[in-house]
Amino acid sequence: MYNHTAFALGANRSCIRELFEYGRMRAGIVGAENVLDFSLGNPSIPSPPEVNQAIEEILKDTDSLLVHGYTSAVGDLQTRQAIAADLNERYDASVAPEDLFIGCGAAPELTAVLHALAIPQGEVVVIAPFFPEYRPFVEGAGMTLRIVPADIPDFQIDMAALEGCINSHTQAVIINSPNNPAGTVYTEKTLQALASLLRKKSEEFGHPVYIISDEPYRELVYDGAKAAFIPLIYENTIVCYSYSKSLSLPGERIGYVYVPKAAADSAQVYAAVCGAARRLGHVCAPSLMQKVIARCAQLRPDLQAYDRNRKALWQGLVDAGYEVAKPEGAFYLFVKAPGGDAKAFSEKAKARDLLVVPGDDFGCGSYFRLCYCVSYEQIQKSLPIFRELI
Ligand code: PLP
Repeated sequence: MYNHTAFALGANRSCIRELFEYGRMRAGIVGAENVLDFSLGNPSIPSPPEVNQAIEEILKDTDSLLVHGYTSAVGDLQTRQAIAADLNERYDASVAPEDLFIGCGAAPELTAVLHALAIPQGEVVVIAPFFPEYRPFVEGAGMTLRIVPADIPDFQIDMAALEGCINSHTQAVIINSPNNPAGTVYTEKTLQALASLLRKKSEEFGHPVYIISDEPYRELVYDGAKAAFIPLIYENTIVCYSYSKSLSLPGERIGYVYVPKAAADSAQVYAAVCGAARRLGHVCAPSLMQKVIARCAQLRPDLQAYDRNRKALWQGLVDAGYEVAKPEGAFYLFVKAPGGDAKAFSEKAKARDLLVVPGDDFGCGSYFRLCYCVSYEQIQKSLPIFRELI
């Protein structure tokens, strides 16, 4: 006997993984340089050199038992101090080390927060297009996922549609800005309107409706765009941050949850996050990486390569006649599929060894996603094929 829901999740690989594996198989046949794989959001710029320097210094200077030993479940104090200091300096915020829980990246942090907020009949709203893993995370926590479409074509939040989706069971709204897959960065106006709406709804229902702010791309912004620090705009915000993209460390599994003191029931929610993480098997985040973040929390990525790719791919697609909003953040383009059927378009592209992810799992079946964290050469090679495909 086994759990059938878990089986179904494990047996059906995500569409993104499926394409990625297909790309590897094709690379073995036609050569890696001939597979134009835009499927997976694996950073293509190296971590800042200070990260590897920090690893070397820590290994040289610190007792090995300490480097590789268990840390406190909520994370090393020095790590939490370094993160709090950095956030306070950047945003003029008042983050304290005891408000931070060092986790193993955004995915397990979101899972812990959702379990921490899970109540019978609880609901969580996501804005489509959305990161497909939100569905198993929310449903795995025993809550219902409600999907509300974004305001197309700019992918900001459609407040009227969102309001229609919030009811007395709503525990949280997950937002992700800069956004995967649309690249959207929410404007101050959008965030202020969201905060007003959620304040009104919290009052109406007599309980807080939290924002869960999923922020792996916070530092990945272009053209002078600014990703706001959401707790400064809406008090009942719980932040799930990750260094996977900002420091190109996705395989190392490190990030944090921030529960601001100003949030409703903040002490209880923080304890519930710790309890939920414990129940899900969290022991501590990787000790070596915690020590790296204690030294590197203030580092920012050099975005020149992503920016160059973003501009070249966006311009090339627009010139070819594709409909695509210019993204200001993350490393994705979300493109309207010619003919309106992204699955059919993806299959057509696949036949040319051009791998694009249809938007169905993101809640938008007429769009496809391109990850531009690839080489510039790949973008140049792909544009003639995109022109032919339209
Ligand atoms: N949330 C979003 C929107 C993502 O795009 C990703 C990864 O691609 C994650 C969460 C998970 O990131 P992590 O590697 O930190 O678990």
